Order: sequence, then C-alpha cells, then structure tokens
Amino acid sequence: MSAPVLALDDVSIRYPGAPAAAVRNVSFEIGTGETLGIVGESGSGKSTLAAAMMGLLPSGSTVTGGLRFEGRDLFGQMTERELRQLRGRDIATIAQDPFTALNPVMKIGRQLDIFQHWYHDRPRAERKARILKMLEQVRLSDPGVRMQQYPHQLSGGILQRVSIAAALLAEPKLLIADEPTTALDATTEAQILGIMAEAKETLRGATVFITHDMSVVERLCDRIAVLYAGELVETGTVAEVLKDPRHPYTKALLECDPARIEEPTSELPTIGGTVPALDDRPAGCIFEPRCPSAVAHCRAEAPKRHDLGPRQSAACHLVTP
Ligand code: SF4
Ligand code: MG
Repeated sequence: MSAPVLALDDVSIRYPGAPAAAVRNVSFEIGTGETLGIVGESGSGKSTLAAAMMGLLPSGSTVTGGLRFEGRDLFGQMTERELRQLRGRDIATIAQDPFTALNPVMKIGRQLDIFQHWYHDRPRAERKARILKMLEQVRLSDPGVRMQQYPHQLSGGILQRVSIAAALLAEPKLLIADEPTTALDATTEAQILGIMAEAKETLRGATVFITHDMSVVERLCDRIAVLYAGELVETGTVAEVLKDPRHPYTKALLECDPARIEEPTSELPTIGGTVPALDDRPAGCIFEPRCPSAVAHCRAEAPKRHDLGPRQSAACHLVTP
C-alpha cells in the first residue's frame, strides 16, 4: 500500500458526559485507491468513527490516540478553520439522508458546480459539460432539467445520485459513505449500489464505506474492519475475512447475511441479544454475552488483538495465528 491517506492509531472517542468511550482503541489505515468497509450493528461506533474522520465530533468530545489525514493529526494539529477547509476540499461524504446533504434553496446545477473546486478556473461551459457527464454517469435521466431543479422537487433515490455525483465531482482524497442506502427502498438501493460499484473505477482517492450489510462489503470493498460495541474485533482483506472469518462476531454477521443463506426460510437468522450499553459493558471480552464459542476465561479477561497476516488481525482468545 502507498502511504496511508488516513491512519487511525489506537483511537478512543468519548462523547461529552458519556459514561464510557463510544470507540475504543481502534487502529487501521486506508491507502489511495482502497475501499475500506466498516461493518457492525447499530451501536457499534461506525457513525462515531465517520464523524471523527471528518473532524465533526460534538464539541467537548475526548479523542485519544492518533487520527492522521496525510500525516497530520486531525485533532492535535489542525485548527477548526483548517478542518473546514479539509472537509470542503479533500474529504467528501455521501450521507444517509441526501436531503440533509444538499442546500434546499439552491438549484442542483449550482450546487454541483460548487463541489468541483479543482475546475473553478475553467470556463463555465466546460464545468457545465463536466456536471452533465457526471449526472449521466450516475444514470440520471434528463440531466439538463435536473440541474435547474431544487432538492425538494426530487425523490430520495434521485437526490442520492446527485450526492454521489457531487462527491465524484469533488475528486476527494477521502470519500466517506455512511450507509448511503439506508433511507431508500430495495430497488433504489440496488441501483445506488450499482452506481457506487461503477464509481469505484473513477475514484482515485481512498473510500470508507460504512454499512451493516456484508454483501455490500463483498461487492464494493477491498478491506473490511468489523466493529463491535466500539471495538475493532477483526480486520483484513475482504477476500480473506469473508472466506475465513476468524472472530465469532464476524462469523455471526456472515451467517445472518441473507445473500449467503443457501436455502432461505421465512425467518432470517439473527444474532441473539443486543450490543451492550455504554454503562453496562462486560468486564472480559465485549462479545462474551452473545458469543456461541465463549469459554470461562472470556468472562474474566479481554482478548488481545492477534495478527494473522500482514494486515489481518482478530481480537479473540480462541484465535491463533
Ligand atoms: Fe467469544 Fe471468547 Fe472470542 Fe470473546 S474471546 S469472541 S467470548 S470466544
Ligand atoms: Mg449509525
């Protein structure tokens, strides 16, 4: 991998007034051209990590460890102004709810023009042509008409395509997609995932794709980071981890993936129990109350992370290299 675009080194994040950290001791790197899938159920800390990567944690949050973008620590070394510049230029996002991502009182075409910073010294006609081409790439019909419309005139699925177009026009060094299909129906979701898969070819920076869906990771990502209750329980290449998951939580997520079930029955399997609350965390392994493989020792002591290869690791007492 080339020098990482983003490197997390033992990052813990605690919200102001919270009884415990929402993210604990998480480390991983993302390189240029790579797509990292961050997976986990709700409450796993995925969105907290996404907010941290954008420098958008609520004020008063405590961050320890290093979170470096191109070698500069987002929390130690940058002013709020520098962070804003970074978000406007080098880091782009595709949000869960495209309505919140777009300005309600500005026409789509004007908004998209603002996103293409690197092209602002080009003639207007060239910029417009680039936007039209991008709207076609995200398979929007009548791009010329869309450019003249306001967000409220468009459906959620179309707006999400506009958001993807905006992110691609920005040519970000880091793109963060936080469950971009959550608010959409199944057909629209399939279309958006298809567009994201194609967009992968266009993106030259690094991408973080946050999801709870293993089949999305399989389709769109090169590497995976599995989070559970704010801890990184397994990481590796998608090829390795999906073929040979080592952590019981990763195995359970795969067993519950509808796309992987050979003979679907009317009831989908689920992982029994729930993610522990911040103020009710188990003393030993965080997954112990729900783990089908737990042994007595798991209750007493939290497992360390074991390296399984150059870039694969899992935190479980039963995992041996
Ligand atoms: Fe399960 Fe024990 Fe491994 Fe935790 S350490 S995941 S409880 S087997
Ligand atoms: Mg979330």
